Amino acid sequence: MATLLTGACLCQKITYRVDLPATDPLPQVILCHCTSCKRYTGSAFSSNIVVPRSALVYTTGSPKLYLGHSDRGPQVRRQFCADCGTPFTSQPGDADEIIIIKTGTLDEESRARCGQLGQEIWCRSKDEGGEDSEDASQSALIVSTN
Ligand SMILES: [Zn+2]
Ligand SMILES: [Zn+2]
Repeated sequence: MATLLTGACLCQKITYRVDLPATDPLPQVILCHCTSCKRYTGSAFSSNIVVPRSALVYTTGSPKLYLGHSDRGPQVRRQFCADCGTPFTSQPGDADEIIIIKTGTLDEESRARCGQLGQEIWCRSKDEGGEDSEDASQSALIVSTN
């Protein structure tokens, strides 16, 4: 039996599924603080899981592709919904075998299954101040699952 994760964009015109071998551990969340992710997601950081490229299949609609650059240098392929703007994936040009999925697009049940924080990257671009503020309940939640 395989592990099935599902997701969709905000307008629900595009849906996807990720089929992972049941023997694989569930993907852990990687938080990225790079400036590209801030802009791409319109947020202070991006929340991602890394899966094999072949595991991701769009089941309804198809995303638009944006070719951009990353803080690291190589071109990055980014798939997003052209109707509602939801960012689905990013894929570094030098990494054909994997694809990075934004966990905010996962359906609730799937997101809960991948809730474990694996690592944070690009911390030197991390925004200061957010973590210690009193209404940082979201980051407190993430930390508590670690
Ligand atoms: Zn959409
Ligand atoms: Zn990033």
